[in-house]
Amino acid sequence: MRIRKSFRFEGAHIVRNCSSQRCKYNIHGHSYGVEVTIRSSRLDQGYMVLDFMLLDKVKLLVDSFDHSYSLWNREAEDFKGWIHKNTQRVAEIPVSPSAEGYALLFFYVVDRILENTIFQNGEGEIELFSVKVHETSTGYAEAFREDLSLVQFTLNEIHFSQAIIDEWPFDWWESLKTGQKFINPEVEQNL
Ligand SMILES: [Zn+2]
Repeated sequence: MRIRKSFRFEGAHIVRNCSSQRCKYNIHGHSYGVEVTIRSSRLDQGYMVLDFMLLDKVKLLVDSFDHSYSLWNREAEDFKGWIHKNTQRVAEIPVSPSAEGYALLFFYVVDRILENTIFQNGEGEIELFSVKVHETSTGYAEAFREDLSLVQFTLNEIHFSQAIIDEWPFDWWESLKTGQKFINPEVEQNL
């Protein structure tokens, strides 16, 4: 069975090297929709693939890009410096912040989050199926597991600015990078 959870963020970027003059030379923003689809061959004790509440780290990930500038780490050093000097919320990423780049990045990170989570309510083999990123109301990019072959980066190449980190309830990113497991709460069965 598959389930899907939607998230939103308002993000700013420049998409270098693309064909559109407006996109490649101008800071601009979009209202992004992110759809995370997860599948499992089994249901947990509450007859769910997993409780959406348990996607709290995925929510933190997507929210880290909200009202943030997504800065491709291949940008010139003077531009990077200008961005960091003039805006507080910056996500420095190893992919171009195109819809495809976000889809790939989010798939990779969400997959790592799920791998790093200990489920405690009888969930089956939870598997990330796809991540869809809508950049406009008419277009989206969708990343699947096979697209992980396009990943040429690690978590260590993704950097969130201090203003983003300061809004997290705990440093989940450090936990993920160091492999410190996210342990879901045990669930009392009331039936
Ligand atoms: Zn754009």
